[in-house]
Amino acid sequence: MLLTISTTMPSARDLGFLLHKHPDRYQRFSLAFGEGHVFYPEASDDRCSAALLVDVDPIRLTRGRRGTVYTQQHYVSDRPYVASSFLSVAIAQIYGTALGGRCDSHPELAAQRLPLEVQLPVVPCGTEDEIIGDLFEPLGYDVELKRLELASAGATPEASRYCSLALTAEVRLADLLTHLYVLLPVLDDDKHYWVGADEVDKLLRRGAGWLETHPARDAITRRYLRRRRPLVLDALAKLAEADESGTTVDEPVERNQDERYRSLHQQRLGAVLAALRGTAARSVLDLGCGEGRLLELLRAEPQFERITGVDASSRVLSRAARRLRLDTATTVERERLQLLHGALTYRDDRLSGHDAAAVVEVVEHLDQERLSAFSEVIFGHTRPTTIVLTTPNREYNALFDEPRELRHRDHRFEWTRTEFRGWVETISARYGYSATVLPVGPEHPEHGPPSQMAVFNLAGKETAA
Ligand code: SAH
Repeated sequence: MLLTISTTMPSARDLGFLLHKHPDRYQRFSLAFGEGHVFYPEASDDRCSAALLVDVDPIRLTRGRRGTVYTQQHYVSDRPYVASSFLSVAIAQIYGTALGGRCDSHPELAAQRLPLEVQLPVVPCGTEDEIIGDLFEPLGYDVELKRLELASAGATPEASRYCSLALTAEVRLADLLTHLYVLLPVLDDDKHYWVGADEVDKLLRRGAGWLETHPARDAITRRYLRRRRPLVLDALAKLAEADESGTTVDEPVERNQDERYRSLHQQRLGAVLAALRGTAARSVLDLGCGEGRLLELLRAEPQFERITGVDASSRVLSRAARRLRLDTATTVERERLQLLHGALTYRDDRLSGHDAAAVVEVVEHLDQERLSAFSEVIFGHTRPTTIVLTTPNREYNALFDEPRELRHRDHRFEWTRTEFRGWVETISARYGYSATVLPVGPEHPEHGPPSQMAVFNLAGKETAA
């Protein structure tokens, strides 16, 4: 099996430093189940690619080592070339230092988002390949999938259970390796070693900062732990503790005041709902609707005659459909509330003709250049009369138990109050909106509120109810 990581960053050959593997050298490593080889198919200063080839040895595999039980029954014939948990183990052993985010010679590069591409010629994808997008897209990757065809003698080629996969993102190398480490076995859905309790710790450690809030968190956990129920429940409970949409991550330690007892997310949704109710809007979009918590609140308001939730992840949309019980909804209810699969960075005429839009904790998931595409699509093209948008206040992060730069690893940025105001003013001026910025959640005298909200109104339009 083969994993190729490429970059077009300036001085692209520095990828060698980051991976701790010299671009001009071919290197061989011994693994418990075979051999790993690292070489660079290209290594110029404009573009550099490192290939990790893992050669699984069926004989060594059945023998195992150091107490690891490799079961022969799992060694089916696709193992040598299909990316699987073997590749994860190889990543951990051969790219271990890079996986840990360490690069003593170039620490700034290790800490930085870099333009990276991954090529995996064969990944298992069963009959539904949308799972691959659901796993990687929420983490900010562009996903290109090609289902491989089975050559059959003479007849039309048949689709196989495998895809070739290309991922592109601006991402830290350590994050990219971590995502692959966790998600490859998830795709494969079949680990080559016995899953014991320490796998829960491994999953929590490797998933820290991104898995808690991943829309496919539960499915990832189930598959990673091979559906062993007690382990899955244990891991899910621990992940939920750290999930913003649960209660804790977003809130500071001191939670003795009543206000802080309410989850910040509830407060946020309450503020957004109040802002929307204060308008004459009869149709409303929830852009990046996630699992549909706001949609549930909007549906309870008779004011809204048409409600449309949009999200790029089909997995979270199916969760939203379950939460909203759309399967048992009447035709009238279904016409009133619809879910659309779509990206907010491309013009989409299905979004046109709504009076208002909510964008709750979404923009910080967009790369800066996509943020302008988003603004152009929503403020320039879709142009609802009212847009209610929330995003974290980065200054507030200093109050967390473990202060951190960004609240979640999937966030591309977080704004201070001044930066948010600056963006709101620029967008309002560019697209002809007027805007009010409001705090959400309890305000700290120095660091401000945990979240911030802008209510944009199309200039000249009457919006009050
Ligand atoms: N608004 C929801 C979810 C916030 S999480 C809530 O407050 O609970 C961010 C959501 O935005 C995720 O569901 C993610 O899938 C979605 N998202 C991120 N980038 C997107 C894009 N470019 N287009 C559409 N949805 C996107």
